[in-house]
Amino acid sequence: MPRAPRFDTLFEPVRIGPKTAKNRFFQVPHASGMTNANPHVRAAFRATKAEGGWGVISTGACSVHPSSDDSPFPFASLWDEADIRAHAVMTEAVHAHGALAAVELWHGGAAAVNRTSRLAPLSPSGVPWMATHVGFMSAARPKVMDAGDIRDLIRWHEEAAVRAERAGFDILYVYAGMGYLPYQFLLSDYNHRTDAYGGSVENRVRLVAELIDAVREATQGRTAVALRLSLQELRARPSQIAASEAHEVISFLKDAPDLFDIKMDYSTADCAPSRYVAEGSHEPVVDFVKTLTGKPVVGVGRFTSPDTMVSMVKRGVLDLIGGARPSIADPFLPKKIEEGREDEIRECIGCNICISSWHDGVWVRCTQNPTAGEEWRRGWHPERVRPDAAGSVLVVGGGPAGLEAALTLGRRGYQVSLAEKARDFGGRLLWETRLPGLREWFRVADYRLGQLRKMPNVSLFAESDLTAADVQEFGADHVVVATGARWTATLCGANEIPAAPLDAPRVYTPDDIAAGVKIEGPVAVFDFDNYYMGSAIAEHLAARGLTTTYITTAGAAQAWGFMTNEQPLVHQAFLKAGIGYRTLEIVTGFDGAMLGLAQIFTGERRGIASRSLVIVGQRTGGSALYDALRAEGTGFRSLALTGDANAPGAIAHAVWQGHRTAREVGLAEAEIAVLRDAPSAARDFLEPREAAQ
Ligand code: ADP
Ligand code: SF4
Repeated sequence: MPRAPRFDTLFEPVRIGPKTAKNRFFQVPHASGMTNANPHVRAAFRATKAEGGWGVISTGACSVHPSSDDSPFPFASLWDEADIRAHAVMTEAVHAHGALAAVELWHGGAAAVNRTSRLAPLSPSGVPWMATHVGFMSAARPKVMDAGDIRDLIRWHEEAAVRAERAGFDILYVYAGMGYLPYQFLLSDYNHRTDAYGGSVENRVRLVAELIDAVREATQGRTAVALRLSLQELRARPSQIAASEAHEVISFLKDAPDLFDIKMDYSTADCAPSRYVAEGSHEPVVDFVKTLTGKPVVGVGRFTSPDTMVSMVKRGVLDLIGGARPSIADPFLPKKIEEGREDEIRECIGCNICISSWHDGVWVRCTQNPTAGEEWRRGWHPERVRPDAAGSVLVVGGGPAGLEAALTLGRRGYQVSLAEKARDFGGRLLWETRLPGLREWFRVADYRLGQLRKMPNVSLFAESDLTAADVQEFGADHVVVATGARWTATLCGANEIPAAPLDAPRVYTPDDIAAGVKIEGPVAVFDFDNYYMGSAIAEHLAARGLTTTYITTAGAAQAWGFMTNEQPLVHQAFLKAGIGYRTLEIVTGFDGAMLGLAQIFTGERRGIASRSLVIVGQRTGGSALYDALRAEGTGFRSLALTGDANAPGAIAHAVWQGHRTAREVGLAEAEIAVLRDAPSAARDFLEPREAAQ
């Protein structure tokens, strides 16, 4: 199908200094968890997006010098020859698809505490970055940069720029955002200097201007220079001569870079979860930039709707549509719009499992796109599978795992039957996405059902509660069981030792609430799962007018929500909804009127009045159907258990398991190759050094 003419503007080329992007789709720098230790994994991940039509493909943060060392968080570097080789694998792969390659040159300053290099963190005035999570904290405090340090910083950028050009990059970033070093110079809270780099806004932008000049001169104008700026705090600060300090900064720098990449200051706002923040949320902060500069401007906002993208361009907010999460969820988003297939876009659901990967220090994972990070290691392509299969498969269970398995098996060419006992497909998503804020997550089912319904070799059977005898009788060549998991009423003891299930009146699990049980208030929600379910149920119950208390074993509500940028917003939502919360406590007993609690470290006991208790703790997988088939099943070539029934987890885990199962049905173990990547080593690293005595 040809693309709709109203989307033509998205495919116009855009000049960025000496380079031209072939369209307006710009994969902005984002963390991938892939360091220089995994050059082929990284190259394949980024190149897949270039293949999918993104006009510019960027790296994540790429350190210019060992004094910017974020370990153990995964970051890239451009410190030496080996690093050049590691990046060249990616730039070549990206260029092969006609996209430009951009590198986010990065110095973290006081926000990178150099755990491995052990160099003193650098800062304008010795003010530490305010870490709010133990994973980011450090006992190292930054040194105040003197004039020599500033000259070094500029030289490191120059040297990294030369290496970047040699590695094949077309666009070189200067990064003044998200708490990192040049950003700290811009903000008076961090910058108390009295020299030419502190005081007035004009002085505070000086370093950024000098870095831009240095990077440009290092490559003698052959590469484009981009400036990435966080504008949230600056925009909130009044100015004597402009609408805000952000306006002043842009005015001073308006002709300096070839491109402005504008964003928010904090991960929670920049990469906000859909549960609390809608698509396009950056606009009120960044909307003014194009009124002050003639240079092209790129920005993000979890854009998945092509109409919204066109509107951003037409209304003069952005020239280039930045994508981080939408490009992970669907690397082929631009191609699908270009080919009039926008209904096939696998829209990002805003769950932020991707950002949790970076916090975990591993390659990116995505709920919607199970192939993210697996392009090289497992050879998984987001749009293609080898259509080499013949025969039939029965998939039992139409939740995220079953839907993904059926889709991938269908693409492989199998005759697929998907049986689901409920009236509707979607499994856990059907109810979970009715919890406050989680509506967008149903895209996981919508996308897959939309595709499955178009496939002539796939049949969907709702209201089909299959027994082992039914499955045998059905007579498929292969059987995939994806029947999900159940929540248990098991309690949690101190020291995280599981305790027995609680036998008391009005004790419920999330499955009971999903089944529509009537809850009497006041109600307590005891959460030791610590992902979204406990806090979302608390919000759900409070929204129904019940007095709700949330209790967790952890130090904060939805403790794992730190990983997905949800945690601060959960606390804000609790405050707004009047949900009381108690931390570092376990439930020790309940008699239907009083709930017994104990502090997890001291064992100190307390009681609170409660009529009902919801336990959000453990889930058990397993499946009677699978067990029966395994015990007595004959007549099919393979039987697999997948998704939450195999091992309960986040939706992302269920989708990944379903995908893997489907890729591997009918293959012998020897046919499934999983590659291991290796870093490019510099020759001089290989020479043994004599230890100094
Ligand atoms: P997952 O996240 O692994 O996909 P879900 O719990 O979301 O797990 O989905 C499992 C689905 O399997 C549910 O929709 C459930 O109704 C369905 N199911 C469970 N047992 C059977 C069965 N015997 N026959 C058909 N469908 C089943
Ligand atoms: Fe979007 Fe979630 Fe995938 Fe991240 S993990 S790209 S938020 S769908």
